[in-house]
Amino acid sequence: MYYNENTIIYLNGQFVKAAEAKVDLFGQTLHYGYGVFEGIRSYKTAAGETRIFKAEEHFERLRNSAQALNLPYRWSVDELIDATYQVLRQNELQDAYIRPLVYAPANMSFNVNTASYITIQAWQMQPFLGEKLLRVFTSSFQRPNPKGFKIEAKANGHYVNSILASQEAKSNGFDEALLTDMNGYVAEGPGANMFFEQNGKLITPAKGNILPGITRATVLEICSTLDIEVEEKLFTTEEVKGAEAAFYCGTAAEVIGWESLDNVPFSKPWSETLSKRVQAAYAARVIEAEVYAEASV
Ligand code: PMP
Repeated sequence: MYYNENTIIYLNGQFVKAAEAKVDLFGQTLHYGYGVFEGIRSYKTAAGETRIFKAEEHFERLRNSAQALNLPYRWSVDELIDATYQVLRQNELQDAYIRPLVYAPANMSFNVNTASYITIQAWQMQPFLGEKLLRVFTSSFQRPNPKGFKIEAKANGHYVNSILASQEAKSNGFDEALLTDMNGYVAEGPGANMFFEQNGKLITPAKGNILPGITRATVLEICSTLDIEVEEKLFTTEEVKGAEAAFYCGTAAEVIGWESLDNVPFSKPWSETLSKRVQAAYAARVIEAEVYAEASV
């Protein structure tokens, strides 16, 4: 699914076959989840070009995540963007999911390392798979306490929390989980930020206890272009239940509407919501389509 015998990855300055690449089984990242990564997408634009969406923002976040965890980091944004375009070209990918990962050397201690390593992998991903709406479940798991983790870093180990929450939601018959923060306020999904819509306005959790997503920032830009009011604040799941609409947004999820939260449906048909307009504008924006301008009317 992710690679075959011909797939090329970037590994520490070289382009090598995924099937032949090696990683140290004594590595600190594998043992302790101590590493950082990114999730990026490229799209075939309306003009037919291959474009990495928000490439600078993602590679800057990768650097910030590494620095937050004291991982040595010696790569420039430009060299990593270059390497990523080469990975796409060598694998003939246009619509792709891109996964850079900075990992630590063999080290069973908790001491700071003198080196770290990087890989960039990519695989095919179809954009905008239909008009599905999610049935969302309030998780019994909370997001990690920001006093225990660098919550704004995209660190490997944080995703144990995401996996537990997502698996719990699915085992209860739902599509996805919604996690609260350590104080019980709505935080985010396992791999996406959330917005809900009420009285002609969008509301999203304030920064502090969430991963502030690059898609969340794009949604805020779109709302400003479309003149949609947005409020960033803390709120509970009770305020979300029965609201007009809600959606998740993230690099992989893009903008995806919710059907219900804990089986309580949203009150407006998705097609009549502001959220749907944001979704259409996002879809146009990632492919640099002219319709982005039209979506704003
Ligand atoms: N929250 C979490 C926990 C995530 O893993 C992601 C995906 N990176 C997001 C939010 C959304 O971030 P982005 O829009 O930058 O992909």
